[in-house]
Amino acid sequence: MVSEFMLQQTPVARVLPVWSVWMERWPTPSALAADEPGEAVRAWGRLGYPRRAQRLHAAATVIVAEHGGQVPASLDALRALPGVGEYTAAAIASFGYGQRHLVLDTNVRRVLARIEDGCEFPPTHLTQGERDRRQVWVPDDPAQAAAWAVASMELGALVCTARTPACPSCPVRESCAWFAAGRPAHEGPPRRGQTYAGTDRQCRGVLLGVVRDAAGPVPEEAVLAAWTSDPAQATRALEGLLADGLLRKGAQATVTL
Ligand code: SF4
Repeated sequence: MVSEFMLQQTPVARVLPVWSVWMERWPTPSALAADEPGEAVRAWGRLGYPRRAQRLHAAATVIVAEHGGQVPASLDALRALPGVGEYTAAAIASFGYGQRHLVLDTNVRRVLARIEDGCEFPPTHLTQGERDRRQVWVPDDPAQAAAWAVASMELGALVCTARTPACPSCPVRESCAWFAAGRPAHEGPPRRGQTYAGTDRQCRGVLLGVVRDAAGPVPEEAVLAAWTSDPAQATRALEGLLADGLLRKGAQATVTL
């Protein structure tokens, strides 16, 4: 569950060291729930999207209160936890508990769009129709289904990548409609790359980093001074971090985790 939260938006190479330290420190939901949410945000480090740390802590608290400290195995109970969406619930139930579920992450959606639909990329939004069509790919045997889920994710991550799929060495190229069609170019609106520099998200990350790396409360002025290019953006970002509970106001115009 911890790795699934961390991997929601962050590549595995960046997640691994943080995950190792995290699991050493909080090996169980009850260990995490017993600590302060701010400590979870601090330990999240530079993984980005730090509300995931908050939600993971909140989920641990619910697991202790309602599930005897054990991560629940049922999809419904998992979906009811903070921060657990359709993909994460299916991944935990499948990889953690060996159940048969359709585990559709970005990579798997792309792989199956190519193999089955002959399209380079899937539609922007996942629909029930796509879910239904992909369901038939999942083997009936739960153990095989879990292995299939891992394998299809790995195929997408390592071979059938978004920009440079390695079709000549792909083990399923004989069954791939997109390959058979000569790899036609993607139709539809251009796919936008993600920009980060100068965004509110980067600004929030910089301000949060100042407080995270400090031993105690930090004057608001010092936090805002970390983002000089746009003071109004910095003020907005700080207000957002406070409103989201990622930072708290301390005494004498300071902020803290
Ligand atoms: S043949 Fe190419 S496009 Fe088809 S699944 Fe393999 S890597 Fe992806």
